[in-house]
Amino acid sequence: MDKKILPPPQTHATTLKSTKHTQQRSRTPSPSNSETSASFSSTTSEKSSSTTTSKKLSFRYSIQNIPAPLATQKSFYSHLISLGLHQIDSLKVNYNKSALLVLSRQLTPNQISTLQAGFPGSKIQFKLLNPTRLLPQIEPKPITFSIVVRDVSSDIEPQDVISALNNFHIQKVWRIISAKTNKPTPLMRIVTPDKTAIDTLLSNGLSLFGHVHPCEPSHPPKPAPLQCAKCFTFGHSFSQCPNKPICPTCPDNHRSKPCPSAVSNPKCPKCQGNHPAWSRDCPQFIKPSQMTPETPVVPIKIVDKEFDPENSDDDSDEREPFVSARQFLRFITKTLFDLFPFEKQKIQSVLEHSARACLRRDLKISHSSNKIHFTFG
Ligand SMILES: [Zn+2]
Ligand SMILES: [Zn+2]
Ligand SMILES: [Zn+2]
Repeated sequence: MDKKILPPPQTHATTLKSTKHTQQRSRTPSPSNSETSASFSSTTSEKSSSTTTSKKLSFRYSIQNIPAPLATQKSFYSHLISLGLHQIDSLKVNYNKSALLVLSRQLTPNQISTLQAGFPGSKIQFKLLNPTRLLPQIEPKPITFSIVVRDVSSDIEPQDVISALNNFHIQKVWRIISAKTNKPTPLMRIVTPDKTAIDTLLSNGLSLFGHVHPCEPSHPPKPAPLQCAKCFTFGHSFSQCPNKPICPTCPDNHRSKPCPSAVSNPKCPKCQGNHPAWSRDCPQFIKPSQMTPETPVVPIKIVDKEFDPENSDDDSDEREPFVSARQFLRFITKTLFDLFPFEKQKIQSVLEHSARACLRRDLKISHSSNKIHFTFG
């Protein structure tokens, strides 16, 4: 979330990934005390040397009270350049005469004074943001997928399944109870974050007491309505948001994180109810019955490493095909799922049949909300 707030530096070929690393490193910034000159020109040599060691730090400044005539992206950027601040990694001027400035070097007090003097008669402020406060401290939840094991007789316990899979990291196993009859079924559900376990089970089945049980991925979940993580309205994503950010857990439009009422006493800024703005309890949350094929939904995300464009080595060999057959299957699946989010089950079964008929390959797709993982047999 934090890396979305900060656009990637435009002046470098820096990926989002390395931006994240940079922010982590910048928890312990080491300001250059030796620099007393108000000139900004010395940053050039420093910066190129830090680029070669790939240890680029980033310093984020919140700027307030920009004089109105200069409070546009074009005029404020040009003015900073005219004041000698040439090494701007990124700048975002907001509606309320404030801006976020990202630099690869920390400004000295002298440099800040020089910048402020460049806005005569104004109360402009440059405040260094504390990087640790902006970084979410919570570990992201592991993505788990679930598998259904068939034909499991009633005397087989979940613990038997866990023991049979002791080579893998299995999170949870339980017997599926029929929603219609409320009675145990011959099906067991396995939940795991381990994609090797998913691939092994889907390709080979699960061997229990000398019998191999077929395994299937669970049904695709219903598509979730697309809700903006910045203004919490439905229908667009964070990156397309035209609105000001709001706090999701209180109606006060405070700028600082974390929100004082976030955990203990959330109050929805949309309806004033006792839940956060993203809660399904909110009367403004789009219910499944209100969704139509036109409702914008959360797009599908492929979590397989092989598909990650940041990890692919594009320039390795120009004679290699543009994409592999596996990548193409992933591409087609994502495109169809995003086009027809209500038809995922049907698309999946057609794709599985086509892969078998045309490519002589087994294809299985596992779902974890909007995230999908492919198993190729
Ligand atoms: Zn928005
Ligand atoms: Zn708040
Ligand atoms: Zn609400």
